[in-house]
Amino acid sequence: MKALVEQVEGILKFRGKRLTKQRRLIIETLKNLQGHFDVQDLHRRVEEADHRISLSTVYRTVNLLKELGFLRALDIGEGYTLYEVVPEFEHHHLVCIRCGRIVEFHCEHCEAIHRRLAENYGFEIVSSQVVLQGYCPKCRKELNTEAL
Ligand SMILES: [Zn+2]
Ligand SMILES: [Zn+2]
Repeated sequence: MKALVEQVEGILKFRGKRLTKQRRLIIETLKNLQGHFDVQDLHRRVEEADHRISLSTVYRTVNLLKELGFLRALDIGEGYTLYEVVPEFEHHHLVCIRCGRIVEFHCEHCEAIHRRLAENYGFEIVSSQVVLQGYCPKCRKELNTEAL
């Protein structure tokens, strides 16, 4: 598989646009972030390499990547959005509302439900997101100790 930056460049070229140096740097940084990140995280990392890149440039690049289908937004509640590279295999998320820990999980039952819903409603489902919020084991333990 071609590197993300080359794929993006290819699509932009096709649209008669080119990938700016700043955007290239943002995409390369993003690739090294792994997992789930927010735009501020990404901006901080990008700034280490080039402090002239503004937060709004990072926002615009993230939105472009989302629009092109390389990134997806993850609404983890309270207006907080994380991004991740679109995974090859669908997964869902358990989110700890205390420490922000995120656990990815796969769910065969969810897939079966999606298939059934798609059939019942005549929908073609192209993506889905299940976000379950709660307390992670560590926070549960800490909360229990605090209560004592
Ligand atoms: Zn937690
Ligand atoms: Zn994920």
